[in-house]
Amino acid sequence: MIFPVDFIKVTQGPHNSKAIDLATNNGIYQDVRAAQDGVVHVIDWQPNSGGNVIYIKHDDGIISQYGHLSKVYVKKGQRVSLGEIIGKEGATGKVTGPHLHFGLSSPDVNFYHDANLNVFDYCYVYPWQVVDASTKEKYGKELKYYDEINPDRDNIKYVYDVDDEGLNVRESPNGKKTGKLLTTATKVIVYEEKDGWSRIGPNEWVFSRYLSNKCPIYYVVIGADKEGLNVRNKPSLYLSKVLNTIKNGSRVQVYDTDGTWAKVSKEENRWCSKKYLEKVN
Ligand SMILES: [Zn+2]
Repeated sequence: MIFPVDFIKVTQGPHNSKAIDLATNNGIYQDVRAAQDGVVHVIDWQPNSGGNVIYIKHDDGIISQYGHLSKVYVKKGQRVSLGEIIGKEGATGKVTGPHLHFGLSSPDVNFYHDANLNVFDYCYVYPWQVVDASTKEKYGKELKYYDEINPDRDNIKYVYDVDDEGLNVRESPNGKKTGKLLTTATKVIVYEEKDGWSRIGPNEWVFSRYLSNKCPIYYVVIGADKEGLNVRNKPSLYLSKVLNTIKNGSRVQVYDTDGTWAKVSKEENRWCSKKYLEKVN
């Protein structure tokens, strides 16, 4: 399971059984994410307690609850996946200030009244999430990070075989570009795979074919001038045309070498001078 907000600040530890309260992000209502895959079980209005509450039933029978929401984006019966945005934090129901009331119930209890499972035993902090310093201090021993579950597990992958522009990240399979580009050897976690696409974040998808279990040997561009390192269509200084440039600090994968030249893209005839490349691993 994932913590349901990306800025994790626990303002109240286990209460009303073992539910917890999670703060806004410095006053800004955060998107609320489904803790795990499941089906929207109940959407409830509780004016004297939880306000707008979503209950999600997960495949193992555990029910998660999200209270005081200002917005509900899902409908009863809708299937949701881990990390999917289902609502927004708010201050509906009985509150002293805006926050998210979040709890987990085992299948054998009345989920309206008993959030009997310890959230810290089930939820992980995912790589893009940020834990507030006071929460780290207070709950540091109980917090678990997804990265640390099993560092050898096979859903850790590396960006491989992309050209020097990098790998485009999209909002969904075949969807809009997010503007984010991943350079060679960037480490990602694959949460889901679908039709040749890999999900590497809540709404971040990349082509699976540019990911590999193996980290590529990569080089970093250093010492080029402000314009960057010229990429030429042949390993020849004078006759070739400059295709584009690679900025200092960019990572490249080297596919071939010829004298003082290195082929830095799988595409044909993309070469640069080797002297501006420093091997990293
Ligand atoms: Zn609460």
